[in-house]
Amino acid sequence: MSTRTSSEDRVPACDVPPVDDETPDEEGAFPRLTDDQVATLEVGGTRRSVRAGEVLIREGAPSHDFFVILSGKVAIIDEGDVDGERRILRVHGPGRFLGELGLLEGQVAFFTAEAIEDGEMLVVPAARVRELVAHDLVLSDLILRAYLVRRHLLIGLGSGFRIIGSCYSPDTLRLREFAMRNRLPHRWIDLEQDERAEQLLRSLDIAPEDTPVVIWHGEKVLRNPTNAELARIVGLPVPDSVPDAAQDVCDLVVVGAGPAGLAASVYGASDGLNTVTLESIAAGGQASTSSRIENYLGFPAGISGAELAERAVIQAGKFGARILVSAEVTGLGSEDGHHVLRLADGGAVRGRAVVLATGARYRKLAVPGIEALEGTSVYYAATHQEARMCG
Ligand SMILES: Cc1cc2nc3c(=O)[nH]c(=O)nc-3n(C[C@H](O)[C@H](O)[C@H](O)COP(=O)(O)OP(=O)(O)OC[C@H]3O[C@@H](n4cnc5c(N)ncnc54)[C@H](O)[C@@H]3O)c2cc1C
Repeated sequence: MSTRTSSEDRVPACDVPPVDDETPDEEGAFPRLTDDQVATLEVGGTRRSVRAGEVLIREGAPSHDFFVILSGKVAIIDEGDVDGERRILRVHGPGRFLGELGLLEGQVAFFTAEAIEDGEMLVVPAARVRELVAHDLVLSDLILRAYLVRRHLLIGLGSGFRIIGSCYSPDTLRLREFAMRNRLPHRWIDLEQDERAEQLLRSLDIAPEDTPVVIWHGEKVLRNPTNAELARIVGLPVPDSVPDAAQDVCDLVVVGAGPAGLAASVYGASDGLNTVTLESIAAGGQASTSSRIENYLGFPAGISGAELAERAVIQAGKFGARILVSAEVTGLGSEDGHHVLRLADGGAVRGRAVVLATGARYRKLAVPGIEALEGTSVYYAATHQEARMCG
């Protein structure tokens, strides 16, 4: 893997063209806050002036602030590949707030937010907004709903990082699956079909045999990263990013973050147990691939599996549970009276109690050589994720 930073010569700055029209609201994604709601957010926030052209949130960088637009306008921009072709995705005006799900979950931003008019912002630390989302019913509903829809819309728009690789490569498939299962906004550029792929690789000085690569508009390049490396650059917690998870003895270790593991994490942490959840791929498990679950208790109108997973992750985080991805448990033993869970990457986590919530695995078709075709032309479900793979 190589990580390159600061290649401004490769990404020429380009002006944002003037945009007058605000993007209309879509399914509650871009609501306007009332004066009372702004006043609530103002406790713990600060007002500050911004100038046209000022970048408030930078794609690929962690964002620590929640911005409410008090006056002026802000454009939401996809930074493009490496050729400086930026796309304006949205324009927001007074009363609207910026950000998306990543702000609540500690991920990096999957878009750039840039002021296109002089104006004033209310800037609130993300920690304060997380607290409000956990305790203020009205603001919680409004912000969480907007952020969940925004994440869904960003995924559809193909904003975020790029995966360049061949549709025949198992590693490309692995990275795409990891990104999709973790609901990370990204775009796949197929080396076999997309004419831009080779040109992009040439401009980054990467040979086709070094693919797949993951790029953030040319500034960061990961060559055939592991899932953990990809998780790390987007800010998903992986085992080595939480050092005390390896050193401390946790009260409760949950293996698997499907609905059962997430429920165990919420109940354990809300009862005051120091809880760590180890998940090999993505929080939500099988359920997160379902477009609508009609029979989950408490959701009479149904809920998408992705939304169920995101809500549960935020709820578990509110009580202090740490959910780690790319954390496949390969062994369970004991040492000094504690359970020891060994991880595929060589690490280990120790706990006083363990809940195994590893769900089910599909029975595979018993045909010699089938593994080579799985995920590229043989599928075991027909959800929207497989539809994206086939599309
Ligand atoms: C497309 C689809 C639609 C569905 N729709 C519905 C529905 O509408 N209603 C309904 O009731 N049910 C539905 N189901 C079934 C439902 O999703 C499952 O019953 C439910 O997800 C089981 O939850 P679980 O937490 O026990 O296991 P899973 O959801 O299977 O989660 C287990 C988790 O453990 C992780 N894991 C496994 N081994 C390890 C390891 N060694 N180390 C670390 N992590 C590990 C896995 O990666 C996974 O994330 C649907 C399933 C699918 C696939």
